[in-house]
Amino acid sequence: MTLPSSVLVGGVKYEVQEVSRLRDKKDSLGRAQCHRQRIKIDSGLGGDAKAATLLHEVIHAILYQTGHDEHVEPHIRALGYGLLALMRDNEEWIRAVLDE
Ligand SMILES: [Zn+2]
Repeated sequence: MTLPSSVLVGGVKYEVQEVSRLRDKKDSLGRAQCHRQRIKIDSGLGGDAKAATLLHEVIHAILYQTGHDEHVEPHIRALGYGLLALMRDNEEWIRAVLDE
């Protein structure tokens, strides 16, 4: 999967970068740097994992931008995979929403 070079999150443009060996002590696959308007994704991930990780980091950014600096990581993980599956499993509905 080719990642976009940027994503808009609540009107804020985030640069998306693929970075080799991003994993740190927390074993992170991605990182949202909200102050820098940058999202980093581990370049070694497979396509589905890249998509899920970008969505995961976007959810972090949404929460940060709406004043929820502290949030529970398992909730973000559940929302990331859950929303990705929802979009993929309901393409017709998603397209209808986009067309409105
Ligand atoms: Zn996270």
